Amino acid sequence: MTFPPPTTTAASNGLAVVEATQLKRLIEIAIQLSSTLELKQLLHLVIHSVVELTETEVASILLMDKQTGELHFVAATNETRVHNVVVPLNSIAGWIVLNGKPLILEDVQSDPRFYAGVDDVIGFRTRSLLGVPLMNKGEVIGVLEAINKHHDKPFSEQDAALLMALASQAAVAIENARLFQQSDLIAEILHEFKTPLMTIIAASEMLQQGRLPEETNRQLIGMVYQESGRLSQMTRDFLDWAHLESGRMHLAQENVEIPPLIGDVIQATQAGAAGMNVTITSALPPDTPPLIGDRERLRQVLLNLVTNAIKYNRRGGQVRITVSQQEQELLLSISDSGHGIPAAHLPHLFERFYRVPGNEGIEGSGLGLSISQKIVQEHGGQIEVRSREGEGSTFTCRLPLPA
Ligand code: ADP
Repeated sequence: MTFPPPTTTAASNGLAVVEATQLKRLIEIAIQLSSTLELKQLLHLVIHSVVELTETEVASILLMDKQTGELHFVAATNETRVHNVVVPLNSIAGWIVLNGKPLILEDVQSDPRFYAGVDDVIGFRTRSLLGVPLMNKGEVIGVLEAINKHHDKPFSEQDAALLMALASQAAVAIENARLFQQSDLIAEILHEFKTPLMTIIAASEMLQQGRLPEETNRQLIGMVYQESGRLSQMTRDFLDWAHLESGRMHLAQENVEIPPLIGDVIQATQAGAAGMNVTITSALPPDTPPLIGDRERLRQVLLNLVTNAIKYNRRGGQVRITVSQQEQELLLSISDSGHGIPAAHLPHLFERFYRVPGNEGIEGSGLGLSISQKIVQEHGGQIEVRSREGEGSTFTCRLPLPA
């Protein structure tokens, strides 16, 4: 791959060109950066510090995915939703990654490397740019960009020196937060896997002794079968969750017609409902507008909510699916006539692995709702829950309609 030479490459004279007040501010920011291990919070802090230090309209961060080698747009000050748009390596940010050097461009639009993908998604126009690599232990882990200097002033050497100093602090903090998240997560998964594993081990040990009545043997084999099924479902759900969480999941942007989607979900859950003698009904306005999003992923959300409404229902109960429009939002509600959820548990329902105590006998991984919420949020929406003990629950997905 060949690249045209950069319009200007920022020659760094180090921090000698930086004023004392800015240096003081940089130190304050560095202390803040080193005191948070929460990645989202950290990225937020970094981009807002870029805007402040370089006096620009906007700042953004792109990070390399070590597994796929792709460069992802992960955060920007003018965009609260993380798009995870994959930015090609023959772009400006890609040039910075591949060359490991800072770059100043006073007219981005005329640069052949300019990738308009992100601007198009968020409706923005990049004019000038100062980009620096995020380096950790000699490796480029991403790019920090300051965009559109206020009053269209040119970027100075001082801006470049400040941004490079910030980038070196930010890169270490980002890597630490990533490592911390991984270790935290691994501990949590191992903890969750322990209960079914212990049951399997205990039941197999008893079976191995071989002197138990036939009926006990059957029960123990049943336990091994059920708990290995649970482990397998937890593994599948967990991988799915991790995939979504890592931001590597690419959501399709297609027209999603609601009536066939709901028809499909009802059909897929019919057998489970029949097993519980539960009746599913639906009410859709005739002119339900389509959503823009990922049909398969939205189907997964509805499937999970309807399956829960059946699983946690009483025998012979009801599930009702309703669709309505509220201004620019489509509301998809799934109501059940189950036992409901005690108010104290409602704030925790969407946490990963959270299950309301007393439901252990019902198959589940405690990940369905966190996966569903993540998918709905990635579509710019929210899931809400209302529940009354002894009466039932209603889960509502609020999804934005295309303008
Ligand atoms: P699970 O795999 O356990 O069903 P979810 O993440 O889908 O995991 O749900 C988390 C918990 O929320 C469930 O274990 C259950 O206790 C509670 N829950 C979810 N949906 C309902 C519902 N419709 N009625 C009552 N409780 C529910």
